[in-house]
Amino acid sequence: MDLPAAPNGTEYYYPNKMVRIILLAMEEVMGRNGVNAVLNLARLKHLVNSIPPNNFDRQVTFGELGAMMRSLDEMYGPRGGRGLALRTGRACFKYGLKEFGPVLGIADLAFRLLPLHRKMKVGADVFGETFNKYSDQVVRLVETEDRLIWDNVRCPVCWGRHTETPCCFLAVGVLQEALYWVSGGKNFDVYESACVACGDEVCTIVIEKTPLD
Ligand SMILES: [Zn+2]
Repeated sequence: MDLPAAPNGTEYYYPNKMVRIILLAMEEVMGRNGVNAVLNLARLKHLVNSIPPNNFDRQVTFGELGAMMRSLDEMYGPRGGRGLALRTGRACFKYGLKEFGPVLGIADLAFRLLPLHRKMKVGADVFGETFNKYSDQVVRLVETEDRLIWDNVRCPVCWGRHTETPCCFLAVGVLQEALYWVSGGKNFDVYESACVACGDEVCTIVIEKTPLD
């Protein structure tokens, strides 16, 4: 399969550690056989039963990640795929926190004692910087009075995909769980309002700052 290349001909990559987190999370949600079926359908046979090592080497392309997400939809239909991607995203945060939490300082007491909205903004900044630093994903954050706007200026989740409606549910799930954790168990309205797969310039995920409950 020809994987979509970056516009300038170079490939963009995720580090093994982050891909490992995605595959572990996916396995928790859909079982080993489910993950292998998705990987086979995406023609990623080299990842079948061979989870990447826990290091920062950038070895998995955005094209491979996009193909993985597309296969999820092909196997389970858009609705089923969406639910699995959201749940996988939520599980990703849990694994990610274990890997990155200590280095980011977001488990520190000083962070935990910040007021909620401050904590959401600081947490989002630190989280976004993690992707900017360790992967080729590019995150840009904007805060308004009511919302945090998380732009994936360069997004691996939908890389190479063409969809009618926004499809970066993995990223939405990760942010939902991050907010749940940051707020000590509250749920927030998180949705993707624009997506590169639909022809938009960037993938935009909107986070309403007022909790639903
Ligand atoms: Zn996207």
